[in-house]
Amino acid sequence: MDDPSPAHDSILDPLNPAQREAATMTSGPLCVLAGAGTGKTRLITHRIAYMVREGTPGSSILAVTFTNKAAREMRDRVWRLVGRAGVWLSTFHSFCAAFLREEFPTIERSSAFSIYDDADGLALMKRVLQDMNLDPEVHRPRQVLSRIGRWKNRLVMPEQALDEETGAVDREAADAYRRYDNALTEANACDFDDLLVRALLLVRDNAEIAERWRRRVTHVLVDEFQDTNRVQYALVRALTREGHHLCVTGDQDQSIYSWRGAEPEQFDAFLEDHPEAGLVRLEQNYRSTGHILSAASSVIACNRNRIPKRLWTEAEDGEAVRVVSFRDDYEEADSIAKAVREFESEGYDRTSMAVFYRTNALSLPIERALLGDGIPYVVVGGLEFFARAEVKDLLAYLRFLANPADVVSLSRILNVPPRGIGKKTQQGVIEQARASGQQIGEFLRDADGFSAFPTRARKALTSFAKRLQELDGHTDLPVARFISTVLDLTTYADYWKAKATKAGSLDPYQNIGQFVTLAEEFDRVQGGSLPDFLAQVALLTDLDRTERKDEAVSLMTLHTSKGLEYDVVFLVGAEHGLLPHAMSMDTQHGLEEERRLFHVGVTRARRRLVITCAGARTRFGRAALASPSPFLDEIGLDGVEHYGDVGLRPGRDAEDAFDRDEEDNPLAHLRAGAPVWHPDYGAGTVVTLRGRGRGLDRKVVVNFENEGRRTLILRHSQLDVREDEVW
Ligand code: ATP
Ligand code: MG
Repeated sequence: MDDPSPAHDSILDPLNPAQREAATMTSGPLCVLAGAGTGKTRLITHRIAYMVREGTPGSSILAVTFTNKAAREMRDRVWRLVGRAGVWLSTFHSFCAAFLREEFPTIERSSAFSIYDDADGLALMKRVLQDMNLDPEVHRPRQVLSRIGRWKNRLVMPEQALDEETGAVDREAADAYRRYDNALTEANACDFDDLLVRALLLVRDNAEIAERWRRRVTHVLVDEFQDTNRVQYALVRALTREGHHLCVTGDQDQSIYSWRGAEPEQFDAFLEDHPEAGLVRLEQNYRSTGHILSAASSVIACNRNRIPKRLWTEAEDGEAVRVVSFRDDYEEADSIAKAVREFESEGYDRTSMAVFYRTNALSLPIERALLGDGIPYVVVGGLEFFARAEVKDLLAYLRFLANPADVVSLSRILNVPPRGIGKKTQQGVIEQARASGQQIGEFLRDADGFSAFPTRARKALTSFAKRLQELDGHTDLPVARFISTVLDLTTYADYWKAKATKAGSLDPYQNIGQFVTLAEEFDRVQGGSLPDFLAQVALLTDLDRTERKDEAVSLMTLHTSKGLEYDVVFLVGAEHGLLPHAMSMDTQHGLEEERRLFHVGVTRARRRLVITCAGARTRFGRAALASPSPFLDEIGLDGVEHYGDVGLRPGRDAEDAFDRDEEDNPLAHLRAGAPVWHPDYGAGTVVTLRGRGRGLDRKVVVNFENEGRRTLILRHSQLDVREDEVW
């Protein structure tokens, strides 16, 4: 290898030997399976840079990550290492959107398609179900959509669903799927699942397209592979000639999206599909202190359905992990604000602090407390901004102007601001357009079509048609200027301005301003057409939009925290029913996913970790009693300090309650000589118990018949007492 500067290699030097091995193994399939903070993402980034340096054209490398933020960070790093090499770094959805924009014309579909978010999909589904005259009590739009999502994730197409389903209700749902699919095509729109499915179908079923892309993209890398679904896996395999130069990295212990169709078993599938694949494991954690890492390891060790792994760190043990209980969520929130100040005084930057919670609703008291204390914060990762009515309306205008078939967007804005086009007229417009065989946008621009409407409606429609024609004359403008023109000509901005003055709030109007700023940035940084801009915006979340806010503490859900790291992490609301969440804690599968989620949160922390719970929490406006999460018991005692007095050790009352709970557990009564059974080690006999008292935190030494002596912590030992035997 001719390295231009062997003394200092900026690409390989920052890697450890295992990472280096994986980075330089650039041919053939490769799987990197490793725990949190072991440098998978760093490895992928450096591997890309290495490939570019070794002569692979950047434009033939595709790296897929989970969030736009992660993709951007990777791109910046690659740029720093090897310059703007043209590497394709994006999320699955953005890649598929770009792919479809290029390839739809091949199958005679317009590339100016709209991307529907969940709310748009729901609006369309409601229309479909109405047309079918189905009982909304039996077929709830949301449920039908999630059913369809499951079909799509398994690549079951509508016809197949109709074939497969035999029950009447299921067949109706399958029929709704077929009609919804047709309605999407008719509106020239894709929902999020569709982006993936359509892209896959094109590569799979169209040899010419497949060949073109395989020549173009020769190397594909997927980070966070544990959270991909079957469609995504099939797509990258199809793009790489059955996984030829496909590299996947991830951590099964961080799989947290099975509810959205992710299949962590795909690592097994990958290794089965590619027996020749290289397999690299990384074991050194570079992110967290020893205490944080050991807390994370003991929690995740409680999952049965996993392959145990060993993680170690050279870092110092650091400060103890704090587990703190509070009387209620207000006290919890106040104390977090206080702790932020405390950590600041220790020298931590606010931007390196984050608060994680299981569900969005938990952010409210924290926001109040931070606000009250004058601490700036950002709530990241949600869709609040893009879900705001005024932003959605504006987007709907733009989408309809770019895509004249987009009936959902049109329905949103046909009478916003109010222009005398009532519900009946709206329905009539849609039906007549359909009857005339025209796209809704064509129909609306053609004033002759309105003759069947009563005079008032006809006037209103004609004036709307004029506006559309005027706007058509400006579509060549840069996006931000076009948007301003839309705002002027439709009087939409004035509409909100007037409302704002009345209500004494400027918020929506300011949001519109922010949206224009977003477009200005698009024009300045990358430029492109209106459909380019819309495709990008459709896949943005607030995580991407707000990341640049300075000096703010970040607030986000645990799901959003994936892949990120912070010096200081507060994990709040660690309570039974919240984390694990009530919806998922009744099955072993659900509980283990919740535990992985908890583990993801813990492993984001670099130096300080504070986990909190409250004895009472306000939910749906009412304070309800809460009890600590079982995960808190699982983080062990070493390097963990407990504070507070609500139901948590080492408060004395709590200790008693705890003992009473354990009273019923047969493990608490184990004695030397007891015969036991372990799922992995088989039959054995207890040799001795170590530790004080009778609690489950004692250690047990067992002599297994086939495995010899093992020492286990009682609580996590998975031992069964063989009660059939008398002892
Ligand atoms: P996660 O599973 O949470 O996504 P990861 O395995 O992707 O984690 P990275 O984010 O790549 O881990 O790395 C974790 C931290 O360790 C980062 O701050 C990274 O810069 C640092 N790091 C990774 N590899 C090394 C290394 N060889 N030497 C020093 N620091 C490293
Ligand atoms: Mg990572």
